[in-house]
Amino acid sequence: MKTLSIVIPCYNEEETVQKFYDETKQWMEKVPADIEYVFVDDGSRDRTLPILKEMAEQDDDVHYISFSRNFGKEAAILAGFQYAKGDAVVLIDADLQHPPSLIPMMWKHFEDGYDQVIAKRNRAGEKFTRRKLTNVYYKLVNRLVEVEITDGVGDFRLLSRQALDALLSLTEYNRFSKGLFSWIGFHEKMIEYENQVRVEGASKWSFASLLNYGMDGILSFNNKPLRIAIYSGIGITMFGFIYILITLVNYFINGVETPGYFTTISAIILLGGIQLLFLGIIGEYIGRIYYETKRRPQYLVKEKN
Ligand code: UDP
Ligand code: MG
Repeated sequence: MKTLSIVIPCYNEEETVQKFYDETKQWMEKVPADIEYVFVDDGSRDRTLPILKEMAEQDDDVHYISFSRNFGKEAAILAGFQYAKGDAVVLIDADLQHPPSLIPMMWKHFEDGYDQVIAKRNRAGEKFTRRKLTNVYYKLVNRLVEVEITDGVGDFRLLSRQALDALLSLTEYNRFSKGLFSWIGFHEKMIEYENQVRVEGASKWSFASLLNYGMDGILSFNNKPLRIAIYSGIGITMFGFIYILITLVNYFINGVETPGYFTTISAIILLGGIQLLFLGIIGEYIGRIYYETKRRPQYLVKEKN
């Protein structure tokens, strides 16, 4: 019989893991495969780990990996993927926002020969502002990056062993899974589901962390922002030359005017701003290179079974 690994990143999920496990277990009876649960405790500070241990004691199919501190969801995903032994892997959140009821269908598609079965959610029940912001973000990102990133497509998906190995062969430190999933390609199947509100506990995403995540998405997949820097640099320099020329001609025809405070100041501010912006972009890339060259492990394991 084939094996299906279910990878669940958990960060402070004491209120939800048990519920998640109970519900998922029921649905897994419909999957004609051996099931392996890989819970990754991402340095939770609540009772998540003791709960996981208890579950592991009662069910041999439950495995857990616990990090020495919080390394972030991307690291947790990677750890789970590296640990998983199945012929296929399902990545799913612990908060039941990703309905486990979809897994039997995902498995069916996998057996039909698909390498990636992607669950796409609609955004019903989400805050209006967040929905709009996400919308704008996806439009922007898809303009900027080389891989196609679809709105509503999150991490919830099934990967075949082949797709998983491909993903694991990408060794970069700054991981932006949404982009990586899309980059590896393979035979993809999309299924849709209704957006779910979190059952218990709080979302770990603040506005700032969403903004950071969004920035990662743009920066980790291309160097177009650097291009933009070059082009606007050329544009502004040309504009500057024309401006100087006009002023000079004007000077010879009309003589000296009143000292141009306004133009001087605005030029300084504008150029200063643009320079800082692009310095920031360049710095951002250098920072990434710095992290990549350190070759630090993405996570540290404190204990596992
Ligand atoms: N998560 C994690 N590490 C983190 C933040 C989140 O492993 O640093 C897990 C979390 O436990 C959950 C999943 O990632 O299983 C999605 O997190 P959350 O529900 O907070 O995100 P949202 O659904 O709001 O996008
Ligand atoms: Mg959630």
